[in-house]
Amino acid sequence: MDRVIIVGGGLAGTRAAEALRARGFAGALTLVGAEARRPYDRPPLSKAVLAGDADTSELTADWDALRCDLLLGERATGLRPAPGRGGTLATTAGDLPFDGLVIATGAVPVLLPGPGRQHVLRTHEDAHELRGHLRPGARIVIVGAGWIGAEVATAAAKKGCRVTVAEAGEAPLVQALGADLGARTAPWYAAAGVELRTGVRVASVEDDGLLLAGGERLAADAVVTGIGVRPEVGWLDGSGLDVELGVLADPSLRASIGGVPRPDIVAVGDCAAWWSNRHGRRVLAEHWDAALNAPEVAAATLLGADAVYDAIPYFWSEQFGHMVQYLGRHEDAERRIDRGDPAGPSWSTVWLTGDRVDAVLAVDRPRDLVQARRLMAAGTPVDPVIAADPDIPLRQA
Ligand code: FAD
Repeated sequence: MDRVIIVGGGLAGTRAAEALRARGFAGALTLVGAEARRPYDRPPLSKAVLAGDADTSELTADWDALRCDLLLGERATGLRPAPGRGGTLATTAGDLPFDGLVIATGAVPVLLPGPGRQHVLRTHEDAHELRGHLRPGARIVIVGAGWIGAEVATAAAKKGCRVTVAEAGEAPLVQALGADLGARTAPWYAAAGVELRTGVRVASVEDDGLLLAGGERLAADAVVTGIGVRPEVGWLDGSGLDVELGVLADPSLRASIGGVPRPDIVAVGDCAAWWSNRHGRRVLAEHWDAALNAPEVAAATLLGADAVYDAIPYFWSEQFGHMVQYLGRHEDAERRIDRGDPAGPSWSTVWLTGDRVDAVLAVDRPRDLVQARRLMAAGTPVDPVIAADPDIPLRQA
């Protein structure tokens, strides 16, 4: 393989460049990134950057040592895979031939209808623009009490803004955790002085705030939309690549055409919907951990090794002074066990099927997360009585 192109200059694209060189790829390497700035990390945007504790979050990659041409501020606009292997990437900088391609174009925020200005939080520029609005007394209305909404509310409340979070579901984090667990975080909003309104249907974003279904208006100096993201895959239209919401990838992260895997095209990060052998289903994780680690497997695949990505999905969030960590997948679990008092300052919830751990949610209990990870990775059985006792480490039955 002589020429590899990486499309997307986020964490996944950067890690792909590092992994390719670490595995001995000696050919030409080019990264095409739509953003003009060097690749940076996104989690700090809703934390340290929004809080004003940091201005940048650039990744520490040594691009010269990686011998990677950075085509920044340029966008891939189309893909023409050649029959068999290789092909041409169409970009705003012209056509680029490739033998190997890494698709790492991430995701973009979903927007609400309406003519008014809505802020999102995806890029460095988004974070700095929003930060400028977080002044004492400013009325900040955040739509969506998901991970991003909660973190923005945390930063805005700390800055002395008057914050309202408008959530369509019956509780925060409904989609990720379900209503009853999500409801446990509602008191955090109140304690921070943030008004949480649930069951809110937004009709449109207007110049002066939100128009709700039913006619009510919510006045705002700034509206922040945090209702989720969708994979950035529109540029692949017409390429023949299999795309369903994200780029469909097999356990080795190979993309496919008509169901036939392409060993020369891999997809990683927020844009990839890969098949997880562990879960027997497709996973579209949109989590930092996958963007960090999956490129290792994608690079190995591209270079002809037999590699499989089957990490346990992991996510964390820092909100209202709490560290919230989630590992695994609980949707099919048989039962749920609480460790510690959910009304107390720190607690965990463990999902089990039989005596195996499917998932864990840890609130300010990082050790539970570490212990659960060990058990889950090895498929070790646990004693439910021990799992329910917060004073005993999570361990084998
Ligand atoms: P991205 O970071 O989105 O990078 C994709 C890049 O590709 C972008 O630079 C984009 O401009 C570029 N691109 C798109 N289309 C094209 C094109 N056609 N041509 C060229 N380039 C293109 N996860 C956690 O687990 N915990 C957290 O606390 C957490 N906090 C977060 C906070 C914020 C504000 C955000 C936005 C995300 C957070 N995440 C968190 C999620 C995590 O950051 C993402 O999962 C991760 O950044 C995904 O990396 P990526 O490289 O796949 O995609």
